[in-house]
Amino acid sequence: MVPYEEVDRRIVEEEEAAELRKLELVDCDVDNGSISSESHARILAEIKKESDAAQRERQATVRHQQQRLLLLRHAARCRHETTCPVTPHCASIKGLWRHISECKDEGCLVANCVSSRYILAHYRQCSDSRCPVCVPVRDAIRRNHQIAKELAEGGSTAAP
Ligand SMILES: [Zn+2]
Ligand SMILES: [Zn+2]
Ligand SMILES: [Zn+2]
Repeated sequence: MVPYEEVDRRIVEEEEAAELRKLELVDCDVDNGSISSESHARILAEIKKESDAAQRERQATVRHQQQRLLLLRHAARCRHETTCPVTPHCASIKGLWRHISECKDEGCLVANCVSSRYILAHYRQCSDSRCPVCVPVRDAIRRNHQIAKELAEGGSTAAP
């Protein structure tokens, strides 16, 4: 009985596939050749390990949600208007951030709107000290704060 979760997962999957293809971050070329009988057998074997695959899929979703949270937080604070040195996603995430800070439509069709609001709402409410999504994000933010603080205070500490 969690309608958001399914919508969210579908959106995340579609978006992830498109994004990764665009970024060329996946080394999918490795598997791109013709499917030999050997790799076919491997595929069948992998289907059997369904729970394993499902787990990996969940981990990928979790990682994606963490990235989204960090990107949204960055975009909310980033002052670079055109070219952001931190992430190439900055401009588009800023647009998304501006939209979701005003959007209240549960059936909104704007890309990533519902899923992002869902993740943010969860993050704000979450107090689970073992949450696989929120805990690493909070850690990363804490670390970023430290790095930012050091950069602001320390000045030149023998940068490479
Ligand atoms: Zn930025
Ligand atoms: Zn919306
Ligand atoms: Zn959480």
